[in-house]
Amino acid sequence: MRTIINVANRLPVTIGDTIRKSSGGLVSALEGVSGDEFELKWLGWPGAVPDSPEEQQQLDQRLLEEFGCCSVFLSAEEVEAYYDGFSNGSLWPILHYNPHLMEYDGVQWDIYKQVNRKFADRILELAGNDDLVWVHDYHLMLVPEMVREARPEIHIGFFFHTPFPSSEVFRSHPRRLELLKGVIGADQVGFHTYGYLRHFRSAVLRVLGLEAELGSIRHGNHLTSLGVYPIGIDSQKFLDELESKPFQEKCRNLREHWKGRRLLLSVERLDYSKGILQRLQAIEKFLQHGQCAKDAVFVFINVPSREMVPAYKQLLEQIVSEVGRINGLYGTIENAPINFIHQSVDFTELCALYSIAEVAMVTPLVDGMNLVAKEYLICQQEEDPGVLVLSEFAGAAQELVNSVVVNPFNTTQMSKSLDLAFDMPIEERRERVQKMRSRIIEFDANFWASSFVNDLAKQVQFDLSPMSVSESEDAIRERLRQSFKPAFFLDYDGTLREFEKIPSAAFPNEKVLAVADALAKAPMDVYIISGRNPEVLQEWFKDYPFTLIAEHGSVVLEPGTTEWLSLNQATDFTWKEHILEVLKLYVGSTPGSFVEEKHSAIVWHYRQCDPEFGVWKARQLLSELYELVANFPVEIHHGKKIIEISSIHVNKGVALEKYAKEKEYDMVLCAGDDQTDEAMFRLEGPQYVTIKVGEGDTRADYRVPDPNHVRKMLLHLVQPEE
Ligand code: UDP
Repeated sequence: MRTIINVANRLPVTIGDTIRKSSGGLVSALEGVSGDEFELKWLGWPGAVPDSPEEQQQLDQRLLEEFGCCSVFLSAEEVEAYYDGFSNGSLWPILHYNPHLMEYDGVQWDIYKQVNRKFADRILELAGNDDLVWVHDYHLMLVPEMVREARPEIHIGFFFHTPFPSSEVFRSHPRRLELLKGVIGADQVGFHTYGYLRHFRSAVLRVLGLEAELGSIRHGNHLTSLGVYPIGIDSQKFLDELESKPFQEKCRNLREHWKGRRLLLSVERLDYSKGILQRLQAIEKFLQHGQCAKDAVFVFINVPSREMVPAYKQLLEQIVSEVGRINGLYGTIENAPINFIHQSVDFTELCALYSIAEVAMVTPLVDGMNLVAKEYLICQQEEDPGVLVLSEFAGAAQELVNSVVVNPFNTTQMSKSLDLAFDMPIEERRERVQKMRSRIIEFDANFWASSFVNDLAKQVQFDLSPMSVSESEDAIRERLRQSFKPAFFLDYDGTLREFEKIPSAAFPNEKVLAVADALAKAPMDVYIISGRNPEVLQEWFKDYPFTLIAEHGSVVLEPGTTEWLSLNQATDFTWKEHILEVLKLYVGSTPGSFVEEKHSAIVWHYRQCDPEFGVWKARQLLSELYELVANFPVEIHHGKKIIEISSIHVNKGVALEKYAKEKEYDMVLCAGDDQTDEAMFRLEGPQYVTIKVGEGDTRADYRVPDPNHVRKMLLHLVQPEE
């Protein structure tokens, strides 16, 4: 049976004199999913750590046997640095659009990495190759990559329970690069809303430079799928509670207590993302002007949260002071308008409050989903339902479109929405609630978890490579040894050498020259076959006995000669003028782009542009070019951050074939990284050994991840065995 290992910061247990299993939505959702098909295991910090290793081992065993929980034991220092410090002090503010509250500390980052490593190691111990690992939330962003590096065959999912902010905000985090790389180690990444997915994709593009498709990101030979899975609540648990006697009794008591008053409710963790101060302002406005103000009573339940983090301490002080001020101003001897409760309430009481409140104000400034909104709605009774006033910045607003949607920064609008809610006719209330409630019941936590798990189970591990070259290197080497007349055709940029922002900066560095030296001494003919112009290639490789083929097969310089010869049979280049005109317009309107004119081609480069804008303009240019070139003898190639328009009579395949035939090579190894190299890979014959560098579809026989591996491979092939 396959196992789902559900990995979250905290295990769903509370350890005191006895051990209790928590009954949160996530627990019942995953228990519902596991069924006959999967065994379920939990992995996380148990919340309490015994002192001695023997006691730890006992607890570990007991948690596993009785609760299916595997522990990652963390010291108090680790919890403080990784959880309170890095996760809640630096990541949470960034993910919730508060970069000014971010408190970054390098030591905490080291401990965050160390704790993520502990989690990853435990996963590697527990997981079989066919198992699913589902990692939850921002505390563990590095875990997916750590697991994948060691065991790529394990299916790894990652879910963001928070929002994912605009890349403009996310990129202010000092560790943005490592964090994003960590997450895309997963096979599948889930978000509550499409907006968060979009932001994530854009952060991956801007920070990591990876162009993503709508629902996936390719990197190296890995594919990460992105998906939207709005979390639901444990509906059945609420429906059962509504039928229970204690609930009904609680409702009666509370109604009696607030007889004649109109109840408004807010429930949340005390957190700056929840918009509590803005809501207090709106309430004050309502108390000043609202028609129903004198009968209203506001119950504010603010569950204590993250009390170790300075920003939370400060917020509590501000709230207490505001509540006191408003109660002082608008209270009477009999009544204070705001009932502020800084404690958690039990489940029955919470459901009763939801049920009797005429209005719930759920107005976070930003919130991944917000379950309170859904919980309030499910607790509404058909005969006299209440009204949900919901922030448009809660993930839930995407689904709960029949609520009264407000902008939590517009306190006047929020206060007016309370008048609207109190005055809403019963038919309208019923209609609105009924639609949302049935959606909440149907798309519950179980539905959410099964959708994610089913998609994750279906993920095929994309081995984009026809065959990784490393496994065949020895075979290629052997073939080379037996060959009488071998030749290497090597592309330059992206193959022998990594890209740079400015093409001239990608000159042959020491590593490239070391390979060139080794090739020069080896007994095969070497061709550098590149899109570069002749002058550059000649300057870089004039001292080597290599044949240089420039401009994708347009011109050639034989070793020991000084004159470039044309390989191009074309004579008509009038098309260049027309295309140049268009490209110049694009250079003007796309800052950072430029045109390179070659002998038989023109290239528009956009590597230095704003990455999203560059891609957008490139698409625009392509569609314009396709129309323009219909009658020209050219082809258009969209490569890595370039669009190249070149003569159809010239390509690397034609050039290679000419030499392969003339020289009668019995082995031709060719390597290249982009679309222009596919013309070489298309050639057929037993002598060809074709190698694609990097990701992307290819016809090549083998794949190598990057130039570094190419260089290593070449050295291995040509240097004598030690
Ligand atoms: N909740 C709780 N104790 C309380 C009041 C509320 O456990 O005294 C629960 C509430 O039922 C809800 C959760 O806390 O399930 C809050 O989830 P939400 O998504 O609204 O916000 P988050 O705290 O995750 O930011």
